[in-house]
Amino acid sequence: MHIAVPKEIKNHEYRVALTPAGARELTGRGHAVSMQAGAGEGAGFNDSDYEAAGARIEGDVEALWQYAELVLKVKEPQAEEVARLTSRHVLFTYLHLAAEETLTRGLMQSGATCIAYETITDAQGKLPLLAPMSTVAGRMAIQAGAHSLEKAQGGSGVLLPGVPGVAPGKVTVIGGGVVGENAARMALGLGADVTVLDKSLARLDMLDERYQGRIKTVYSTADALDHAVRESDMIVGAVLIPGAAAPKLITRAMLADMKPGSVLVDVAIDQGGCFETSKPTTHAAPTYLVDGIVHYCVANMPGGVARTSTLGLTNATLPFVLALADKGWREALSDDRHFLPGLNVHAGKIIYPAVADAFGLER
Ligand code: NAD
Repeated sequence: MHIAVPKEIKNHEYRVALTPAGARELTGRGHAVSMQAGAGEGAGFNDSDYEAAGARIEGDVEALWQYAELVLKVKEPQAEEVARLTSRHVLFTYLHLAAEETLTRGLMQSGATCIAYETITDAQGKLPLLAPMSTVAGRMAIQAGAHSLEKAQGGSGVLLPGVPGVAPGKVTVIGGGVVGENAARMALGLGADVTVLDKSLARLDMLDERYQGRIKTVYSTADALDHAVRESDMIVGAVLIPGAAAPKLITRAMLADMKPGSVLVDVAIDQGGCFETSKPTTHAAPTYLVDGIVHYCVANMPGGVARTSTLGLTNATLPFVLALADKGWREALSDDRHFLPGLNVHAGKIIYPAVADAFGLER
């Protein structure tokens, strides 16, 4: 099969959908791989690394798409990419269509077969192609939040681990899922005093067991949130209610109860954010102040650490890429009931129910 990997063109996106190691797996099985020139640069991979893996480097992006059968990307296709898609193409990438009607209609019109990373499931009913990026965002949340606590960033000047004779800073993580656990783990590693709030007792139980009580667990109620706001030096928002906008758990009025210069890191910003005063920011200008509280609300946190994110993402996508290349999309999807929910659009029709329902479209 002929597989093409374009350079990502979304603003500040540095990841790439295939590493040289992945290219080598594909070419080793007899597939043809074409990389757009410079596609891996943002993640630290040179064209020569791909050539050494048996891939071809293509300078002409139109030609790249024209002879591709399978197109691998990271972010949803931008308008000029949608225009290049035809019914010959199978597209495998993050799509997040339920919030993007124009893109959804564009993909339908293209006639292409579009398979989304984020709707593929695993045997536990989880989303294995979302988890690596949640892991990155959770770990990065503490790094970003610790930096934001510095005076020069408008922070309170608290060093999370403290020093001998000075108590550590307090970190509260709201939501103990993939993002939350990874944030808590990093904060713990830094020596902070860490509390996780969740509405799922099973999650709190697991965290208590896994970290042997070193992470405090508290059932998430309005009272618990009031307490967290008064006590914490940093609060990480990591809640998710699948398919819904994030609930606003900390209101503007509650900011008055926080210590001046405390930090809110809203990882759930890509679902609208779980703090009332959150608005999406970028890596170029990641923070802003509201009522003396530092807000960090970067919507694509993994893009800031493109090297690690690319490796983490492609480790998870590669088995599916190999199945698509070896078997063709029909057989690859029908052989794997967890891969099948990845199919979002085919031959002008929406296949994934939640996307069709979101826009009142026929399936
Ligand atoms: P997850 O499903 O693994 O975990 C979410 C947790 O929130 C669950 O344990 C759930 O019980 C808990 N929860 C729900 N309502 C709650 C409440 N009111 N109080 C306390 N806990 C509550 O989800 P995840 O993978 O950890 O993702 C969390 C969020 O981070 C999502 O919105 C996701 O889209 C976002 N995310 C953002 C970025 C970014 O770059 N900003 C990157 C990755 C993920």
